[in-house]
Formats: sequence, structure tokens, C-alpha cells
Amino acid sequence: MSGSPDHLGPDRLDRFARHIVLPEVGGAGQAALAGRHVVLVGIGGIGCPALQYLAGAGIGRMTLIDDDVVEASNLQRQTLFTPADIGRAKAAAAAEWVQRFDPVLEVNAVTVRIGAANAAALIAGADLVLDGCDNFATRLAVSDACVTAGVPLTSAALGRFQGQVANFAGHLPGEACYRCFVGDAFDAEDCDTCAADGVLGAMVGWVGAFAAMHGLRALLAGVATLGDPQWGQLHVFDGLKPSLRTMRIAQDPGCNGCVSGVP
Ligand SMILES: [Zn+2]
Repeated sequence: MSGSPDHLGPDRLDRFARHIVLPEVGGAGQAALAGRHVVLVGIGGIGCPALQYLAGAGIGRMTLIDDDVVEASNLQRQTLFTPADIGRAKAAAAAEWVQRFDPVLEVNAVTVRIGAANAAALIAGADLVLDGCDNFATRLAVSDACVTAGVPLTSAALGRFQGQVANFAGHLPGEACYRCFVGDAFDAEDCDTCAADGVLGAMVGWVGAFAAMHGLRALLAGVATLGDPQWGQLHVFDGLKPSLRTMRIAQDPGCNGCVSGVP
């Protein structure tokens, strides 16, 4: 969480000039982003655009977690990958993209399935976790680990033409966590329905880019005026109307994630 404008050399000042000129970000905000570590869970339809905009924003260090390989049916919405990547690990292919895009950024590819057993180790040291994975069990395990470690969570999800993005800070008193939102019923359930239901590529792009912006809000909290993390505000996207509405998620007084401890 270090950083000051002094840490950005002339080439970096040029690269991020359009950020720095924004009063809501400024030199201090840009330098802070260069000192941040973001863990991305899921390098799919949401993770790809989120990663591209976070890398574009100069996040200094990123850890990319995905146990999947690129398939031909991913290319319609997972914007980092090309036909040459089919059969390759998504995390490794995405990390190579980051290295080409901005060699200054530090990026680590982790090709494992994140779950309750390894989540704490995988998110250790993160300033933010951005979860765009495809199932509830993983999301709950990641959320619990974030609460325990005191790491903010940007959660983004999609079903057909409805998207949802929220920032959670379940480690802070009175703030809801992701488990407050969905409850305990989905711990053992894999709800990947993309294959059966279909998904429009541009729709995940909308949600993924919004998730990146939401992550930046959380990362800049206390540094720049863009840093209003909007903890516990759920933004719901309707891609058919289209519309965007916001609702408040209250902390569940009986939550097993943030109130009575991780189960
Ligand atoms: Zn909770």
C-alpha cells in the first residue's frame, strides 16, 4: 500500500497521463495503484476485460488464478485469448498477455482450483480480490478467506442478461460480506450455467469493465476521491432493457462468514 508520485518515472507519467490529469485519481492515486496487489479469481468472460482494464490502470502486481484451459467456445467473450491459446492454461496465457502489454507489471499465473483449503494462502498479501469465477462454492470460499484476511472483495457475476457487481468489506464492523448476500446454501453447489443458458459476449464485457472500475474504487479508498468503495452496494445490470439499479445489502446478523466467524 505504498506509493507517491515520486515513484513514477517519466515513462510511467506519460503512460498514465490521462489518469493523472483526472482530479479524482491524480498523481497520488496513480502511484498508489502501482503499489497495489490484486488477485483475480477466474480469467473468463468477466476476468478478461477486468484484467485488461486493471493492467491498463497500472496495478503493480497481479495474481491470476484459474484452473481451466482455453476452449474454442470461450473466444466469443474471453477477449484475451486467440485460437493459438486453445488448450493452454488460461492463467498462463493471460499472464503472457499482461507481460506483453506492460512489462513493468508483475504478474503471477496460478493454475489451481481455489477453494476453502487453499484460498487463504492464495490471497495472502492482496490489497483486493476480484472474483469473476463461475460458481457459488468458490465465491463463498474466496469471500470467507477475504473476511479472515481483511482483504476487500469485488464480486462480479452474470446470468444470461443480468449482471451483478458489488464491493464487500466483511472484515469491517457492520459491513456485509458475500455470504451475507447469498447465504450458506450454495457451499457445495456448482452453478456454472453458461453452457446451458448461453451468454452474450458484450454483456460480460460490460460487467467485467464495471468490476474493474469498482475494484479501482476500493483500491483508491483513502488516497483519491474516486476511492468511494460503496461497500455492500449491489449494482444489478439488465442487458435487455438496458438498465442499472442499485440496492443495499445489509449485514446478516447470523452470517457464518463475517459475524460468527468462518465455518
Ligand atoms: Zn457476512
